Amino acid sequence: MDEGLGVGQGVALSREQSHYLFGVMRRSVGDSVLVFNGRDGEWQASVDKAGKQGVLVCEAQARAQVALPDIWLMFAPVKRARTDFIVEKAVELGVARITPVFTEFTNSERVRPDRMVKIAIEAAEQSGGMNLPRIDEVVKLNRALDDLDVGRKILFLNEREGASDTLAQLRGPSGPVVLLVGPEGGFSAREVDAITTLDACISLSLGPRILRADTAVIAGLTLIQAHWGDWG
Ligand code: SAM
Repeated sequence: MDEGLGVGQGVALSREQSHYLFGVMRRSVGDSVLVFNGRDGEWQASVDKAGKQGVLVCEAQARAQVALPDIWLMFAPVKRARTDFIVEKAVELGVARITPVFTEFTNSERVRPDRMVKIAIEAAEQSGGMNLPRIDEVVKLNRALDDLDVGRKILFLNEREGASDTLAQLRGPSGPVVLLVGPEGGFSAREVDAITTLDACISLSLGPRILRADTAVIAGLTLIQAHWGDWG
């Protein structure tokens, strides 16, 4: 939802949302649904008008808004189905921003942020979340790194790191962080040099086996959430 949410506030549904709610979920006038817009918390709403352009009315706040931990994901897109999977799992695990980056060995098909937004919305809905991450247009890796805010650590998943005490590196103080994951062909030697010379970089091994990029994203986000995130 883009509109503000509050008591008595009407919410106009898009054709797609209406189709899902009334055609797929078979809801009708008077039924209760939960809505969120990422700013005003989660609201109990009732269906005021069903059909192709449905309308809901907010009744009461169900949950106050809670911010996501300041964890970002920067990844090189891979094949479409795996890129979709990465976005879905990143949202389920809780990231505040997703930046797809072109690297020297990126070999994905066209990257569509609108598709990523759709997947992110579905993932947030099904996981009971009430936040959507910001999803950027795809940018070149060096530009994305240059644009990072000062103080944000870069957790660089680097399969060439060799044996390293992965958990010890995460025992330090938490703070804003971005997880950086490469494409199927990995990062080029030049990219590895450039990334590892950055002051903010923590070069991290996920063990001796080479993981697919989508597996690496899940493993990396799991580690960050467990140490620095909102898993309590
Ligand atoms: N360069 C590799 C090759 O072709 O042999 C494979 C790259 S891997 C499929 C994709 C990305 O996942 C890597 O760029 C890295 O960011 C991450 N990754 C995979 N396995 C990893 C590991 N054991 N430790 C750290 N990062 C890993």
